[in-house]
Amino acid sequence: MKKVHLRFYEELNDFLPEEKKKVRFEHFFTGRVSVKDMIESLGVPHTEIDLILVNETSVGFDYIVNDNDIISIYPEFESLDISNLQHLRSKPLRSPKFVVDVHLGKLARYLRMLGFDCIYKNAYNNFEIIDISLKEKRTILTKDRSILKNKMVTHGYWVRNDKPERQTIEVINRFDLKKLTKEFSRCLDCNNVLIEEKKENIIDKIPPKVKNYHNEFYRCISCKKIYWRGSHYERMQKLVDKIKTGELKSL
Ligand SMILES: [Zn+2]
Repeated sequence: MKKVHLRFYEELNDFLPEEKKKVRFEHFFTGRVSVKDMIESLGVPHTEIDLILVNETSVGFDYIVNDNDIISIYPEFESLDISNLQHLRSKPLRSPKFVVDVHLGKLARYLRMLGFDCIYKNAYNNFEIIDISLKEKRTILTKDRSILKNKMVTHGYWVRNDKPERQTIEVINRFDLKKLTKEFSRCLDCNNVLIEEKKENIIDKIPPKVKNYHNEFYRCISCKKIYWRGSHYERMQKLVDKIKTGELKSL
């Protein structure tokens, strides 16, 4: 039996049981094990990790662990300069595009409401989600850690919160999307692009109450659904404004 000393930093602790959070702990193993497999066996997906130090030297995921190694595991650093160390996470994808798992349909709608390209179908299986992510260079948002442990996955994020509004804020903060929101640019139902529509063209398609209170309308170029700034939208907009001004860091 061999032994290593492990310490996980920052939000990586979200994946660990209470007694292993934010402390150095001993882990026992036998045989030949890569550091990636050891970390994932403890429940932390590789997509969450940016840096691994073994005895103070940065290593890759394929590093084979030795008896008595001291291993520190870090998520992405926001401010610390680690440019000369070996980063394990690929650079963030340039334009934020997402594919979300079957449990996150409401999050997908909220992200679309804020203008983000977000693919979701409640019939997708994990393989389809991974395939779409790779082919279309989309980041996977998921509540299912097993997807992120798949070797093929390059960009993915495990959503911590359970409530859709909190999830939305979590994702906006995590991917720094504050300055990129573009409300009323995307259809909540089908993710296609919205265009402005004149009130007189759709007057017979909207409820009477809406006719009286709203003058700005949008139409989906694909499914033709009509949109206006209703109460649902206003609630979300208030939250987003608070994030943008720094008033709200998280919920
Ligand atoms: Zn549509």
